[in-house]
Amino acid sequence: MTSSHESADVIIIGAGIGGLTAAALLQERGISTLVFEKNPFPGGSCSAFQRAGYSFDAGASVFYGFGENGSSGTLNLHTRIFRKLGIQVKTIHDPVQIHYHLPNDFAVSASYDRKTFLDALIDRFPSEADGIRAFYRELDDVHAILSSLPAGSLEDVNHLLTVGAGYPLKTISLALKTFRSMGKTARRYIRDEELLRFIDIEAYSWAVQDAVSTPLVNAGICLADRHYGGINYPVGGSGAIPKALCRGIEKFGGQIRFQSAVSAILVENGEARGVRLADGSEYFAKAVISNATVWDTFNRLISDSRYRVEKERFQQAPSWFQLFLGVDSSVIPADFAVHHILVDDWQCYNQPGGTIYFSSPTMLDPSLAPAGKHIVHAFVTAEMDAWQQYDRGGSEYLEAKERFAERIIARTERILPGLAHAVELKVLATPLTHERYLNRFNGSYGPLLRPGQNILQKPQNTTPVKNLFAVGDSTFPGQGVIAVTYSGVSCASYIARKFGTPLEELV
Ligand SMILES: Cc1cc2nc3c(=O)[nH]c(=O)nc-3n(C[C@H](O)[C@H](O)[C@H](O)COP(=O)(O)OP(=O)(O)OC[C@H]3O[C@@H](n4cnc5c(N)ncnc54)[C@H](O)[C@@H]3O)c2cc1C
Repeated sequence: MTSSHESADVIIIGAGIGGLTAAALLQERGISTLVFEKNPFPGGSCSAFQRAGYSFDAGASVFYGFGENGSSGTLNLHTRIFRKLGIQVKTIHDPVQIHYHLPNDFAVSASYDRKTFLDALIDRFPSEADGIRAFYRELDDVHAILSSLPAGSLEDVNHLLTVGAGYPLKTISLALKTFRSMGKTARRYIRDEELLRFIDIEAYSWAVQDAVSTPLVNAGICLADRHYGGINYPVGGSGAIPKALCRGIEKFGGQIRFQSAVSAILVENGEARGVRLADGSEYFAKAVISNATVWDTFNRLISDSRYRVEKERFQQAPSWFQLFLGVDSSVIPADFAVHHILVDDWQCYNQPGGTIYFSSPTMLDPSLAPAGKHIVHAFVTAEMDAWQQYDRGGSEYLEAKERFAERIIARTERILPGLAHAVELKVLATPLTHERYLNRFNGSYGPLLRPGQNILQKPQNTTPVKNLFAVGDSTFPGQGVIAVTYSGVSCASYIARKFGTPLEELV
């Protein structure tokens, strides 16, 4: 039997960082919100799960956005949002964003201290010293502009007029930079092929694309703010961020319903009216925000084929194979960096499994593991096609996972000799896991821009369905916790103005 409820001003589908950010900011302005999350916990790709005394980060563990205003300007969105909500999130500063281990004995740390990083790169490529400085100065220039502009919606004419009038030269300069790619900019200054591969892995490490396919503007946030706002890890692990956002929503009277999967968005005459849950109950609101991917929102939650999003419209990022390991702490040296990237062969760094991402967050927060143990989270890109043949409960699936994991561990021994023997707990996840836990089509990391596309071609928060909005990594500016936080801010700011209660500037 279907029951109907007039529920809140705004319904949010999914308690990912994008959805929670939008809900918290709207609720703080007195616009009532109701969040439905299919899982019993918040955070999606930025959540944590517990096993045998360990607390693992399900996905994200490199965090921007916790800097102070003096260092990162307006880019420290987490700091500003939690200040606005009156919620405290303690973090630990990480002096190295990533330690790269690349072919041909090329290893370099992307240190917080910009000079240390550039000097290390120049040591390896002395003849490219001027080019290295000039390229990274370009990223700094983008950072300097972005960090001085207030966050808001690019679809909000009032916001655009305010920013344009207040910062005319910066706005024009930024608009011109949106047409540029990181890789083409690098080629203006740099000739050395190995160094250009390094620029590629700098992009691939967060964008899962080479530098030519990566917009300069996005690179200016990630590869410059690491030296200003820096990388800061939340005490208690990645799950501390969504939990704090939930506290903010509830503090101002909002509601979050866990284990509540939305099965349909109710659309009448081209307008979103509410949602239907898997149990058949229906909830109505003035606006609906979807934190699901663009494919899940328009091809699964909306049945009207007029809104269908064809597969080819976006390049689909791969999914992931992940190893969550509990290891004896003696295998990790005391001065080991937290985050590492390993490439064995430049020919296949961007092929499935070609690059190993590695994090050991217990180097910063030992409370995440039992005494004497560390966490190792190693992951590689993986395609659904290679895994969908398996029955998830079957022995063949378990064996395939074990074999794949063994190969990743063997490759990781290059930086951690003895790792295989130090493993005491092993939890493995494939694209099937991603699809199941996160409701993400093919377990994908999300839609990517095609080479040559302008960053502004990413979908914004409004959609073809009236009063249906989108947040998260399917929307501008894209993947990453700080990026989806921006999408939540811009979505809340657009809706709040529409409801006649504009957001106050985040200070
Ligand atoms: C392995 C991995 C490593 C990463 N590392 C980093 C990193 O180090 N730093 C970084 O910044 N970023 C990292 N990222 C990226 C970052 O985690 C994501 O871009 C970001 O968290 C995505 O947030 P989101 O709001 O778009 O949605 P999601 O995290 O996908 O959350 C969406 C939520 O909606 C829920 N949902 C979906 N459909 C429904 C429905 N129908 N009904 C109810 N609920 C629903 C899901 O259960 C989920 O909780 C990583 C991602 C992965 C997978």
